Amino acid sequence: KYSLAERVKTLTPSSTLAITAKAKELKASGIDVIGLGAGEPDYNTPENILKAAAESMEAGFTKYTPAGGLPELKNAIIAKLERDQKLTYKPSEIMVGVGAKHVLYTLFQVILNPSDEVIIPIPYWVSYPEQVKLAGGTPVFIEGTKEQEYKVTAEQIRSAITEKTRALIINSPSNPTGMIYSEEELKQIADVCKEADIWVISDEIYEKLVYNNAKHVSIAQLSDDAKERTLIINGVSKSHSMTGWRIGYIAGDETIVKAMTDLASHSTSNPVTTSQYAAIEAYNGPQDAVEEMRRAFESRLKEIYPKVAAIPGFNVLRPQGAFYLLPEVREAAEKTGYTSVDDFAQALLEEANVAVIPGSGFGSPDTIRLSYATSLDLIEKAVKRIDEFVKTKW
Ligand code: PLP
Repeated sequence: KYSLAERVKTLTPSSTLAITAKAKELKASGIDVIGLGAGEPDYNTPENILKAAAESMEAGFTKYTPAGGLPELKNAIIAKLERDQKLTYKPSEIMVGVGAKHVLYTLFQVILNPSDEVIIPIPYWVSYPEQVKLAGGTPVFIEGTKEQEYKVTAEQIRSAITEKTRALIINSPSNPTGMIYSEEELKQIADVCKEADIWVISDEIYEKLVYNNAKHVSIAQLSDDAKERTLIINGVSKSHSMTGWRIGYIAGDETIVKAMTDLASHSTSNPVTTSQYAAIEAYNGPQDAVEEMRRAFESRLKEIYPKVAAIPGFNVLRPQGAFYLLPEVREAAEKTGYTSVDDFAQALLEEANVAVIPGSGFGSPDTIRLSYATSLDLIEKAVKRIDEFVKTKW
């Protein structure tokens, strides 16, 4: 009776959430820990969105909604995709779920049969492989090395494709690397996916966080074929600082969207009603706050990047988007007496009191992930602590 189901026996809990929890625990016990682990903007949700949510509750909109989201929210998402990506979707091609994470979870549940393969570029967002496995699928990894700016090539994808391949995941801008695929790179990838006739899952959650005039292009924008085979995943978490509201969506193939909606009707019933009203305002209301936050992240990156790059034994590319730095720190770890970067990250937390995420959770065991979604003051203090820690132990 106490034996757990096979499917959860090999489940690795989210390393991101685990470190953040440990850092909070240390903080609660009075230790001055600075958390660079966060995967969420440090700003409050913009006022107009809070107000819209409150008004919806007062107006009595506190009941169930359609399983795949309110028609008004689907329309707001359709307008957003038209405005930002020049892509046209019908309401039947949109499903709103409980955050992009749960939308992805639901997607894998409806497209994968046992041993179906999904190609996942390394470094990857922690949840992709686990979600694929939970759906009975097999993650197939290909590595975007540092020399390739952590991006995979069309050639690598071609070599990884088998007759069991169902989908490729592209996450641009990427968590954890901050890298962005160019239009040309995406074109080549789209060609390979067309040749093999596989789905492209395009996780665009960091779309709005791009710096230095970098441009986000959705692979779905490249051709009619690319649009048909792309399943866009996005949401309000990172763009509108709404991580806790849990609203994400998929835009793409009607049959998949219908199956996902049917599944949701038996699992979530619907995304939280109040959050849906908030998201309608997020997409239909003024977008100034989105740009303000983007600028703040950009100026933090400008300040912090050279300082991280100057830490002995740290080797870091300048990211183009999202809010993470992914230095390779193998040398720093070894020179300070640690055999693994995991141990080094643990020591940074316990001795330097800075919480960072070890890259092993992203399939990139030589790296650590530093989030700059926290005040510049704190980031600078944290980087100074890391720098001193490394220099003292070297
Ligand atoms: N995709 C990536 C790459 C992410 O980093 C995250 C959040 O950390 C998500 C999806 C999920 O976002 P949410 O579930 O908050 O919409």
